[in-house]
Amino acid sequence: MSSPVSHFEAIEVFDSINLGLIVVDPDLKIVLWNQWMARHSRITQEQALRNDFKGLLADQLSPGFLRALDNALRYGLPAVMSSALHRSPLPLFHQHENEDAPVRMYQSIIITPLTSAEGMHSCLIQVSDSSTSVKREKMLMSHSETLKRQVVTDSLTGIYNRRFFDDSYASALKQAKRQQSALSLFMIDIDFFKQYNDHYGHMAGDKALKAVANALGGQMMRSTDVFARYGGEEFIILIPGFSPEQAGLFAEKLRACVLALAIRHEKSLANHYMTISVGVDTCIPEPDFDGKLLLDRADAALYRAKQGGRNQVHASV
Ligand code: GH3
Ligand code: MG
Ligand code: MG
Repeated sequence: MSSPVSHFEAIEVFDSINLGLIVVDPDLKIVLWNQWMARHSRITQEQALRNDFKGLLADQLSPGFLRALDNALRYGLPAVMSSALHRSPLPLFHQHENEDAPVRMYQSIIITPLTSAEGMHSCLIQVSDSSTSVKREKMLMSHSETLKRQVVTDSLTGIYNRRFFDDSYASALKQAKRQQSALSLFMIDIDFFKQYNDHYGHMAGDKALKAVANALGGQMMRSTDVFARYGGEEFIILIPGFSPEQAGLFAEKLRACVLALAIRHEKSLANHYMTISVGVDTCIPEPDFDGKLLLDRADAALYRAKQGGRNQVHASV
């Protein structure tokens, strides 16, 4: 009668498994090196067996891996090396069809001490290929970076949006209060933009908005300057450290740089070209200062610039 259990050799299992298997004895001699290892290290079983593990892989082993191996053989301590912390501890490679150079494999490694009756530690090393999960992780990371950027970016102009401005303003205000330093706020509004859209079309309006955003953005100097689209054809700029005089000069530069774009605007009553009006206010906020006040004062200054005939700069009084 035949046995219901089919027989197979353990070595066949080792060589068929989709995993690298290595066993080293207490003297670091290799006693198991499966086909998967041979394939990805390009060191054959004949070359590996009974050879010294460290000697065979020379200086290609990472210090973290050598430490873990030492702990397993000396003290019987197991170790798990995840690919998140140790990308590629062993010199193992993928040879992709359409690539000349082999690509080093991302790996996850489990080191398990095998203790003999005499208390000697051999060591089983299991290696799995984590390239796919590392690739997926990288993709998710870059996806999440993109999403984070999108949340704070205005899609038409590519500059920061109002949400980003509000957050930046809150933290800049805190810092200015703490350091008793100055903050300048610039409210900017394109003049007669409704007429521009009506006359030249919405697409031309979008194009002009981008050009104005680009020109204003080009005036920013420091990483602490915040420039954002605040609404339809309105922009806002926050700059720390200016005196009221410096802020006035800067506002004038903003006005001039938009006029210099020389965007024809036949329907503007302010100029033949597209122009902006700017309202600015500078303050050194006391600890109990309400941030809304600075916004209101810059807005009131903008209103006066509009009333004064547009294409001009007004500072709060
Ligand atoms: P003022 O000089 O007083 O600022 O007049 P204005 O015409 O610029 O101001 P108003 O608020 O009357 O009109 C703003 C216009 O901006 C109306 C709106 O269609 C246009 N606008 C707002 N957002 C966009 C946009 O994303 N693209 C385009 N093309 N136009 C926009
Ligand atoms: Mg407006
Ligand atoms: Mg306007």
